[in-house]
Amino acid sequence: MFVGHYGAAFAIKRVDPSIPLWVLFLAVQLLDVFWAPFILLGIEKVRIVPGITASNPLDLYYMPYTHSLLATVLWSAGGAFVYGLVTRTPLARQTALWVAVAILSHWVFDLVVHRPDLPLYDDTAKLGLGLWNLPGPAFALEGALLFGGMWLYLSTAPVRRVPVALFGLVMLAIQAYVFFGPPPVSDRAAALTALAAYAVFAVVVARLARRAR
Ligand SMILES: [Zn+2]
Repeated sequence: MFVGHYGAAFAIKRVDPSIPLWVLFLAVQLLDVFWAPFILLGIEKVRIVPGITASNPLDLYYMPYTHSLLATVLWSAGGAFVYGLVTRTPLARQTALWVAVAILSHWVFDLVVHRPDLPLYDDTAKLGLGLWNLPGPAFALEGALLFGGMWLYLSTAPVRRVPVALFGLVMLAIQAYVFFGPPPVSDRAAALTALAAYAVFAVVVARLARRAR
C-alpha cells in the first residue's frame, strides 16, 4: 500500500492533535522509510517481476527486518519510546501510544494488499490477502483510506481545506502512475523513488498544516 497509509496519519491527527502531522506521515510509512535504505544496502531484497501482481511488479521476497509482524511491533515500541523521550509532554505516554498505532497501522494496511510476502517473524509464515491482484478495487481502497482520513482531519483542524484536498489529489495521481504506469527500472530505483516520495510528502504536509484557516 502507498498513499492509503496516510489515511491513518490524518485520522490519528484528529484523535491527538498534539502530534505534528509530518511526524505521523513518517510514522505510518516508517517500515518503508527503513525498507528503502535496507534495499539499497542489500540487507533486504526485492526484485522486479512484471506480472507478479496485477498492479505492481514487486517481488518482495526478503524483508524480515522491516515487514515481519515481530519487527513491526519492535519498530512501533521503539518509535513510541523515541517520540516520548523527545517531546516530554504531560500526556507523553498516551501520545506515544498513538505514534505506536501509526507505525503498526502500516503492517495491517499492507496485509490487505500484499501477496503473501509479509512474514510473522524472521522470513517465515508469510501472509498477504493479495488485493493488488485486483487493481481497480486496490486503487479505490487507497483513495478511500486517504480521503476518509483526510475528511476526519479537515472537519476539525484549523487549516485551509482546499490546498490539503489538492495535495490529496496529487498523491492519488502518483498512486495511479505506480499502479497503471510503467514498472520501475530496477530494485534500487523503486527504493529511491519511494524514499523521495515519503520525504517530499512529509515536507509538504508540514507546510500545509502550518497555514491556518
Ligand atoms: Zn510497506
